[in-house]
Amino acid sequence: MALPANVFNLAEGGMSASYLIVGGNAALLADTGAGDIDEATFTAQLKKFAGDKPVTLVTTHLHQDHTAYHKLFPEYYMHPADHALLQGEIASVYKPLKAGQTFDLGGVTLEIVELPGHTPGSIGVLDRANHYICTGDMVCTGTIFMVDGQCDFDDFADSMEKLLNLGVDNCLCCHADSVVPVAHCTQQIQNVADYRAGTLTEGPGMFGGGSVFTAADGSGFFRPGV
Ligand SMILES: [Zn+2]
Repeated sequence: MALPANVFNLAEGGMSASYLIVGGNAALLADTGAGDIDEATFTAQLKKFAGDKPVTLVTTHLHQDHTAYHKLFPEYYMHPADHALLQGEIASVYKPLKAGQTFDLGGVTLEIVELPGHTPGSIGVLDRANHYICTGDMVCTGTIFMVDGQCDFDDFADSMEKLLNLGVDNCLCCHADSVVPVAHCTQQIQNVADYRAGTLTEGPGMFGGGSVFTAADGSGFFRPGV
């Protein structure tokens, strides 16, 4: 499924998406990717799609594979609940996001939706009029990192219910498939129940540790410490 016509992934081909949403007189960038796209390519893409419009940088959550090029911006927004995850390596000014906060890009209005679960400060960037939301790592057709001390499965399931009731058609995701029908949230609620019941399929983890727990469709959770 294609991205909306005014949305561009600046980190196309990389491990983690960086979605630029362009309005009539401004743009908003949700995350800056993992840094596996070289900086010159990233900045060229930004210039190509945003032109001279001011760009507001918003962080869907504070994981390093989403913040590689934050250092190129003078300031960035992030939910305060993720501030504790900050390790001091982002050389720009942090501005706190609030639930319901809106950004008017000129003909495109975006709204911040709190979606805790993957991390406490995970947020979505909602385009209500065009029925999509950028969901960071909260929605994924692959496995979602659930790290003890950051994740909360109850919050995660509640956030899925919230997404299902927003009136959106699609989620724009940072890993695996880019455009995912919101109905996948129903699967992810089931995945929480099945994980707790011990009925997801356990397999070897990633990056040398932990385990993945997957449903038949390949979605599920990566548990680094398990
Ligand atoms: Zn993440």
